[in-house]
Amino acid sequence: MSLVRDLSGRLHIETPLMAESLMDKALMASTETSQVFRPLPNLNVIKLGGQSIIDRGRVALLPILEEIVAARAEYEMLVVTGGGTRSRHAYAIALDLGMPTGVLAKLGDSISEQNALMVSLLLAPHGGVKIGHDDVLKLPSYMAMGVIPVMHAMPPYGLWEEPAESGRIPPHRTDAGAFLTAEVVGARRCVLVKDERGLFTADPKKNPKAEFISEIAVDELLARDLDDLPVERSMLTALARADSVREVFLINGLERGNLARVLAGENPGTRIYRKG
Ligand code: ADP
Ligand code: MG
Repeated sequence: MSLVRDLSGRLHIETPLMAESLMDKALMASTETSQVFRPLPNLNVIKLGGQSIIDRGRVALLPILEEIVAARAEYEMLVVTGGGTRSRHAYAIALDLGMPTGVLAKLGDSISEQNALMVSLLLAPHGGVKIGHDDVLKLPSYMAMGVIPVMHAMPPYGLWEEPAESGRIPPHRTDAGAFLTAEVVGARRCVLVKDERGLFTADPKKNPKAEFISEIAVDELLARDLDDLPVERSMLTALARADSVREVFLINGLERGNLARVLAGENPGTRIYRKG
């Protein structure tokens, strides 16, 4: 960056991107930096599945919250919440009414926020505090105070959500939101807590012959183009391009001990990673 004076005597800031369209392929590739700054390298982003955990009510949710409280003494955590079945009902009604994708994304946003409200209150006796997207910047203070922040996981594309490749369901939902949150803060781990052991070759609820996959590179998973997945495809493409967070873990939150194990550095479910 340097200052240059033009013939009229005015000062200009000369930067490598000035006067560029920001579309030139070689120029875009040159903006890759060798290392991306990680503001919160000790943070673990834990997404509680809407349909897979929260909708199951107290039998599923309370035990995993107890595990979160126990782990907080040792680990920094941000809890984020999915939307679940109520989002699906809202999407179905909105589709029937002909609503565009951006409206569906707004609906999904407020439903995942309803879950954040309830989860934060259940955690309140142990330092649970509901936060909004703007409060991500305050996470260092929350961590210093021993708080367990709880945020809705739907990313804030809202009305500006891009149209999906096929159909009208918002492509960036709460798995993608959890991952993108982890990526921007340079989190230590991104863990998606669901109701199955992890990734299978097909939905284990529908196909008893589905085979378990404990580890897979994200490019390979995308190339397999499975008919159904336990995570959003948009989360996989984000992971494939990410700079900071190189892996995502899927764990079964219905089984005690898995959260402690994943926080301790083990893989008790499925690890999806970016090669290189
Ligand atoms: P969440 O509520 O956490 O967002 P979802 O219900 O959206 O969870 O997705 C998790 C579900 O995806 C699992 O419970 C499982 O039934 C289903 N699923 C579909 N395809 C697969 C697959 N290939 N491997 C594992 N689970 C799958
Ligand atoms: Mg889901």
